[in-house]
Amino acid sequence: SKKKSQSTSTSGQTDYDPSRPKYHPVDHACWKQGQKVPYLAVARTFEKIEEDSGSLCVVSVHAYVFCVIMCVCVCVVFSDDLLCCVYLCLNQLGPAYLGMELGVGETVLMKAVAQATGRQLDKIKAEAQEKGDLGLVAESSRSNQRMMFQPASLTAGGVFRKLKEIASMSGNSAMNKKIDIIKGLFVACRFSEARYIVRSLAGKLRIGLAEQSVLSALSQAVCLTPPGQGFPPAVIDAGKGMSTESRRAWIEEKSLILKQTYCEMPNYDVIVPVLLKEGIDELPNHCKLTPGVPLRPMLAHPTKGVGEVMKRFDEAAFTCEYKYDGERAQIHILESGEVRVFSRNQEDNTSKYPDILSRIPKVKKDSVVSCVLDSEAVAWDREKKQIQPFQVLTTRKRKDVDASEIKVQVCVYAFDLLYLNGESLVRQPLSRRRALLKESFSEVEGEFVFARSIDSDNTDAIAEFLEQSVRDSCEGLMVKTLEKDATYEIAKRSHNWLKLKKDYLDGVGDTVDLCVIGAYLGKGKRTGTYGGFLLACYDEDNEEFQSHSITPLNLICNENGHYLFSPDVWLDAVQVWEVKCADLSLSPVYKAAMGMVDPEKGISLRFPRFLRIRDDKKPEDATTGAQVHQITRTGMELVEGYKK
Ligand code: ATP
Repeated sequence: SKKKSQSTSTSGQTDYDPSRPKYHPVDHACWKQGQKVPYLAVARTFEKIEEDSGSLCVVSVHAYVFCVIMCVCVCVVFSDDLLCCVYLCLNQLGPAYLGMELGVGETVLMKAVAQATGRQLDKIKAEAQEKGDLGLVAESSRSNQRMMFQPASLTAGGVFRKLKEIASMSGNSAMNKKIDIIKGLFVACRFSEARYIVRSLAGKLRIGLAEQSVLSALSQAVCLTPPGQGFPPAVIDAGKGMSTESRRAWIEEKSLILKQTYCEMPNYDVIVPVLLKEGIDELPNHCKLTPGVPLRPMLAHPTKGVGEVMKRFDEAAFTCEYKYDGERAQIHILESGEVRVFSRNQEDNTSKYPDILSRIPKVKKDSVVSCVLDSEAVAWDREKKQIQPFQVLTTRKRKDVDASEIKVQVCVYAFDLLYLNGESLVRQPLSRRRALLKESFSEVEGEFVFARSIDSDNTDAIAEFLEQSVRDSCEGLMVKTLEKDATYEIAKRSHNWLKLKKDYLDGVGDTVDLCVIGAYLGKGKRTGTYGGFLLACYDEDNEEFQSHSITPLNLICNENGHYLFSPDVWLDAVQVWEVKCADLSLSPVYKAAMGMVDPEKGISLRFPRFLRIRDDKKPEDATTGAQVHQITRTGMELVEGYKK
């Protein structure tokens, strides 16, 4: 009888379809209460997402699967299946700020595929080159193999734990051990499982699922099927009977709770158990900002001039601060006395800045036990006592810096205090946060200084301060509300902070941060190098679900002056470049912001120029199509076509 039940459940898994209409999370699941979630359910979901990538379905299919997993998980006493599934979807092994890596190179992965399938390495290599995806090669190779005994099928949790095991291995024989584990996974693979396991190992899932989509799906799941109901769950769709509009608004409101919590505590290990046990509304009471865990930084909105600032802030009290051109430094002082420095991207920069660490005891008042500071680290010339350009800062070593060998000195310009002695301050107005900052620290010239500011609503005074900031080697001003609507907003780009850069005033336009996705081979004297690049902005047009895809925007240079669309080489979307352009124009070829200005045309850059690599930005932090559109509307001289 055991055999029989196994075969029925396996056949259920074969045609498991999380996207079927009117999916019922219990009846249509391919596993029963108390059983582990099969990895095939995850793989099938990925298949659906891959098929529908870019459409609204991405999140809805996903939400369904989370619903399913949730419903069944919550009924068993202990299960970490949901957490594993979240990490598998994100292709992460744990919280991003811990930076855990698999350490499996392409060659090793190919070797493992070859050994597991009994095929020759050369063949695998050639086929991977041709298909551009080792995952597909692994999947098709698997079906060639005949097995004497079918090994136990994979579970989501099992696969995730194996990936973690691979990441934890180091030392001499680690590579062979890693290959053995990978082979063990392969032999148990069915259908598309091998495709996604290989892609997970290679670090590229290629299903176009960004963190925001996963957060949306997760909140939708817990809204519709609240956890903790017992089995079978009485409420499958808590939004039943609501109008489409109010259902959407309700889910969005809840989703913001999760997103805000995630910004303050970016760790699913902490969030998911609370979500299952206490529900989404309770998240803020259980998952709080904690020194040692980097939070997302608050971002600013661009404005084109003092006039626009006055119009936006109208009656509200605000302050203007120098906008320093360095690197964002979130400085955490832990109760233990330990100090850590995180980047804009939540990466741990502690070992880059031993000099900052050593000066903290000197500038911190005794009253401070623990805190989180927001600041900008700026290159500083000690002899001339002046700020140095950003480019100087980039020459500084990035890791394991020895304090005695530092050539590029930095001065920390502190502008915010987000946490003090056990209390989060993010919901306090800036005036209060700033007062606490100044009470808690003292300045030391050239080492630790408060951002220069004026609290004035006089247009001339602000214009003069802006000029002064530029003379003092800053980029312009940050204008921030002080009292009303002046909390530290992280889950969305808020209008509480406006940036006023000198570039906007010159009429040259702002810079954009674009992801490199392709390259053109150089000709003539550029033979052997790349002659031009295809860049992309981030497409965030679906407000509700924030499903993202990267769309081609423009190429930087092409010696013939031709804007070719299809590059000679497609590059993985990993690097973001800051680019300055003379102007923007409408283009039938480039797709940025398509539909916003013209149904069939997008916006392209004219005379773009490379400024710097933004390694503090991930591809999804690239400028969005909507932002490009906004720049055209607010700032710039526009080409004829757009004026019409
Ligand atoms: P964004 O961070 O808005 O996506 P970006 O990374 O290109 O864009 P900018 O547009 O140059 O950054 O402006 C925001 C950055 O300015 C902050 O992330 C911070 O590093 C820096 N900065 C400098 N001075 C200040 C200040 N006084 N207050 C806040 N941020 C400041």
